Amino acid sequence: MIIVLKPNIGEKQLNEVVELAKKHGYEPKLIRGVERTILACVGDERTHDTLETFINLPAVESVTPIQKKYKLVSRDFKPKDSTFNIQGIKVGAPHFQVIAGPCSVEGYEQAKITASRVKELGAHFFRAGAFKPRTSPYDFQGLGKEGLKILRQIHEETKLPIVTEVMSPSEAELVAEFSDVLQIGTRNAQNYPLLIAAAQTGKPILLKRGFASTVTEWLLAAEYIASHGNDKIILCERGIRTFETSTRNTLDLSAVAVAKSETHLPIFVDPSHAAGRSDMVLPLAKASIAAGADGLMVEVHPNPSEAWSDDAQQLSFDQFQNFMEEIKPFLSAARRC
Ligand code: PEP
Ligand code: MN
Repeated sequence: MIIVLKPNIGEKQLNEVVELAKKHGYEPKLIRGVERTILACVGDERTHDTLETFINLPAVESVTPIQKKYKLVSRDFKPKDSTFNIQGIKVGAPHFQVIAGPCSVEGYEQAKITASRVKELGAHFFRAGAFKPRTSPYDFQGLGKEGLKILRQIHEETKLPIVTEVMSPSEAELVAEFSDVLQIGTRNAQNYPLLIAAAQTGKPILLKRGFASTVTEWLLAAEYIASHGNDKIILCERGIRTFETSTRNTLDLSAVAVAKSETHLPIFVDPSHAAGRSDMVLPLAKASIAAGADGLMVEVHPNPSEAWSDDAQQLSFDQFQNFMEEIKPFLSAARRC
């Protein structure tokens, strides 16, 4: 932490800052310039409130942190890309995985036919929501536990690992019992009790970026999971809220590139929720691979126009078949396996 002191401060005011720095465990080193005095403080800055405390002192002009607020998920902590196994499937660079499935579980038949088809076409995980975070309370809210049971059955029949969303800390254990990867959705990306409860199940977590979260906030949300003993974390960029209205959200590929340089965790992209329209899913997927994504998550439905949620963005089976073909040259150009 670098503390810049105001000009013309007296020794008493300077000492006040030095003493406070020591009290907080820092080793302050004084650098006296011609006009300004700077205090370079060596120590652990991760307790944010200490920085705020310094700004409050009358002698202090500015405080600049040096350390990142996140640690376990950072490349400083672990320079190499993280890879881990989910039921024998390797996640993390140079591996590349596709997660596919309908927005919601609507029933056994719909889930089974979709899982079988996406598996045939090369998807590695089956994803569908049993608990749905809908903007309107009047929209379909998901089949709940019934949906989870269907997902478990689908797993037994297809052997595809199941990804599904958990919305409440009190349901984390239940969702973990029936699934293989817990999804934290964009609306809950900064729900800290939920992040902790999900982490404590020990299941891998797919953490979507909050639609209004900065990359730092996203990584700090991942740090909540990691600091509660769970390092199997997949980050997922799914678009952010901007002024643009031609797509549902704006896919932020710069965040993928930034996050790749900041964290060792695998980063997936969900072009379905980013675009909100099926015709944009493929071009955004290609761009995501080029930007360094480690996997994709796409919504696929047997009959998108009759889907109970997110109908405009889901791919039909034919579209998904074309999608899987079209991304191949991009995957080989990015040296993905
Ligand atoms: C979903 O994956 O169906 C979903 C609701 O996603 P998001 O949290 O990104 O809106
Ligand atoms: Mn959806």
